[in-house]
Amino acid sequence: MTRFSPARFRDPGFGKHHFAVSGWILVRCPRCARQAQIASAARDARDNVSSGDVPRRLVCRHCGLSRQREKNAPVVFSWGGGPDMVDPYFREPLWLQTNTRHGRLWAYNLEHLDLLRQYVQATLREHDPWYEPWRKMGLFGRLPGWIKQAKNRDEVLRGLDRMRSSLAA
Ligand SMILES: [Zn+2]
Repeated sequence: MTRFSPARFRDPGFGKHHFAVSGWILVRCPRCARQAQIASAARDARDNVSSGDVPRRLVCRHCGLSRQREKNAPVVFSWGGGPDMVDPYFREPLWLQTNTRHGRLWAYNLEHLDLLRQYVQATLREHDPWYEPWRKMGLFGRLPGWIKQAKNRDEVLRGLDRMRSSLAA
């Protein structure tokens, strides 16, 4: 019987900046245009991870670029609008982004991408953000409406697949 139960999605309750603050971010290298990473470089417990005020380093294993972010440089979260979705620390284009007929899909890293896929695939959402107003500011509550519509699901999943295959290249 369990084989036929609808896919469920349990919102982990992440804040809207969860992956930008706590994880690695995959970006396009400003020097060689291949895949680079932004890592947090917290040196000791005094660095406040939750505020995002952690030293960041952009590293590219393809060309050897290594760039340290100024400790007090502003953190600017973008929600799209420009030609590219950019990271909040170095303002470099995210590696994981693709356009669909309805709008742009993007993810900071693989974990973020996988969670988006689970969300879109699920036919049953444990915490539907439309009915729980206090969740509207969270990571999933902030997703644009077209991503959540069943009629767009196949196209959204194809977009997520394109993003994932760009990692293997
Ligand atoms: Zn590079």
